[in-house]
Amino acid sequence: MSEAPARPLRALGDVPVSHLRHIGEKRTAALASMGIDNVFDLITHYPRLHVDRTRRAELSELSVGESAAVLGEVTKVAARRTRNARALVELSVSDDGGSFRVVFFNQAWRERQLPVGTQALFFGTVGEYQGRRQMTNPIVDVIVGPSGESRDPSRVGRMVSIYPASGKAGLTSWELGGFIEESLRRAGPLLDPLDEDTRARFSLIDRTAAYFQYHLPRERDDVAPAKRRLIFDEFLRLQTLIALRRRYLATHAQGITHDADLTDLEVAPGALTSTDDALVRRFLAGHPFALTGAQRRVLGEIFTDLAATLPMNRLLQGDVGSGKTLVSLVALLAVIDHARQGVLMAPTEVLAEQHAAALRRDVADLTVHDPRALGGCRPVRVALLSGKTRTKERQEILAGLNEGAVDVVVGTHALLSDDVRFASLGLIVIDEQHRFGVEQRATLRDQGRVRSREGRDPDLLVMTATPIPRTAAMVAFGDLDLSVIDELPNGRLAIRTSWAQSDDEVAACWRHVRDEVAAGNRAFVICPLVEGSARVEATSAVDERTRLALGELRGLAVGLLHGQMKSDEKEAVMASFRAGELDVLVATVVVEVGVDVPEATVIVIEDAWRFGLAQLHQLRGRVGRRDAQSYCYLLGDAPSEEARTRLQALVATNDGFDLAETDLALRGEGTLLGARQKGRSDLRLANLRRDEALLRDAQTLAQEIVQADGGALEVLSDELRLFVDDDEASYLFKS
Ligand code: ADP
Ligand code: MG
Repeated sequence: MSEAPARPLRALGDVPVSHLRHIGEKRTAALASMGIDNVFDLITHYPRLHVDRTRRAELSELSVGESAAVLGEVTKVAARRTRNARALVELSVSDDGGSFRVVFFNQAWRERQLPVGTQALFFGTVGEYQGRRQMTNPIVDVIVGPSGESRDPSRVGRMVSIYPASGKAGLTSWELGGFIEESLRRAGPLLDPLDEDTRARFSLIDRTAAYFQYHLPRERDDVAPAKRRLIFDEFLRLQTLIALRRRYLATHAQGITHDADLTDLEVAPGALTSTDDALVRRFLAGHPFALTGAQRRVLGEIFTDLAATLPMNRLLQGDVGSGKTLVSLVALLAVIDHARQGVLMAPTEVLAEQHAAALRRDVADLTVHDPRALGGCRPVRVALLSGKTRTKERQEILAGLNEGAVDVVVGTHALLSDDVRFASLGLIVIDEQHRFGVEQRATLRDQGRVRSREGRDPDLLVMTATPIPRTAAMVAFGDLDLSVIDELPNGRLAIRTSWAQSDDEVAACWRHVRDEVAAGNRAFVICPLVEGSARVEATSAVDERTRLALGELRGLAVGLLHGQMKSDEKEAVMASFRAGELDVLVATVVVEVGVDVPEATVIVIEDAWRFGLAQLHQLRGRVGRRDAQSYCYLLGDAPSEEARTRLQALVATNDGFDLAETDLALRGEGTLLGARQKGRSDLRLANLRRDEALLRDAQTLAQEIVQADGGALEVLSDELRLFVDDDEASYLFKS
């Protein structure tokens, strides 16, 4: 018998679901609403779990408070309204061990979804009501609808795959399973980029077997090896993409070899220097405090990159308050010392303005060599370019950049505007990189060469205080080299965080704010996040400020900062808060990132549950920025278990890396990468913490495959087209 030729995965992406049996217009639309358009989407719609029918938990065996998945058949449905007019749907469900109750609040549509005779899997916490076991608002996967459509006995085996079936789309897990089974059978053998030796080396099963065993396991032991292979493939594609990006950069770059000298970093405050010394030396000698060990170490890594021929492409990660700004400043000084220019890009105007002011202050006494200047020297010039810079000033700055008379330009994404040109751009620093999209980072890097008359690729340093675990970094920022600042400046005390819930605790919080102000310190009050409307958010901030100024904080100088204010208003308010004319700043999240007012020792975050964990950690980082004890108060309760976990995690630790792990566990990996260009995320089964070893194996193999540039790379490049947009594909994958 001759074997059918193996089918490449990408070919499945070209087959619309409507080509399958039993899929007409209505089901095509229902599948589309779940993000499933083609056969590839279908076979990567993986089961939420596999239920072993012979070993399934029965409700009667579970104790109250336990969470469980229980399979049962609906025997009774009743819908009514509660006294306060909430929709209530009540089911009786029987499983082999007896019957239990399921109730849904505010989900009237469940009555239609779950008529008598439906078999479904209910996930939830087991409770008890009037002596009977009950689940409230469980997650439901309908397995077989009431008409028993295609209750094909051959498919009711020992193991049942339970698919995340979107109830609202009206598809059952059973139907999805049927479509997937048909897809796999009709696809036949799938092309495998890994030969038998490679599979043996990493203990992987064959790809076709993996898809079959994961969707249609015959026994429990089929599942784990199948999953392992599918996860490996997800990582392998991702790491191959990263390796290809690196290869492209390495072969196409025209880097600059900067004259960065590592010994300059040894200079301590107060050291003697002369005007002939390197700018970095003169700066460090005159700076009020010494670099921390971690700052010096990462600067060593940065200087090594600067001095190399390939352009730097580095991510600097350091917790809030670890002193990333100083690191970037020293790197910028090394570059501008040799007649090149630097860019510092920040995500908000408030932050850009703060950076510009700090930089100007720090370089006030420094000069650079400039043959055009009288005496061959002139002061270092730092310009600020934002969306609000007035036309005339903007023209001057643009001219200065074009001639090389401006050394460093600080700004927001206004810097990306077309008319910004440089004489000789040497280094781009992006602060708070997580606020910028991956595309913006790529644009900046690519535009650097085009915008610079010198025509070379500038070095790139991106900084983030949103710490992500190392494995996550390997995935999200795998094309960047990583430097980590793992030490805070000396003398920092851990911020004391508490969650004030009772009226007494809240009153104590405001008393504490008054005490801190009385002791000469300052406070932030963060107003609730209002989804979707900056204007409503601003109004509520205005109201809150008035309320506090007349109430709890009466007699204190209370300022206001929100996103709807004009730039110069924002600047003026920040300036008076910095100067201490204001005691308290009531603000929206505009202060989230980077704002540095070391005198602030207390921050109150209202309705804290509305903020994500990373954002809360960032907000808290506005205090604790010098050697005084600082405090963070979280107000409001938590409407969900998840929100409670988040707030408790924040109370429990100050460590951004721990919080990042918690965050990853709470939100899953999908959110980490955001939507990929083609709207498809390739990490469906992978779990970065659980599968770290596989990720490392995949990275090793991907590097070998790209290096070898043979058949495996051809297969992988082809399937990567499922995830990468055509533009990028055209230059990454040589045909
Ligand atoms: P982040 O890493 O969050 O951007 P910053 O760069 O804003 O942190 O630094 C936080 C604070 O720590 C600033 O007030 C800064 O002046 C101070 N700082 C930075 N480096 C040092 C150091 N080596 N010793 C003492 N204080 C430092
Ligand atoms: Mg910062």
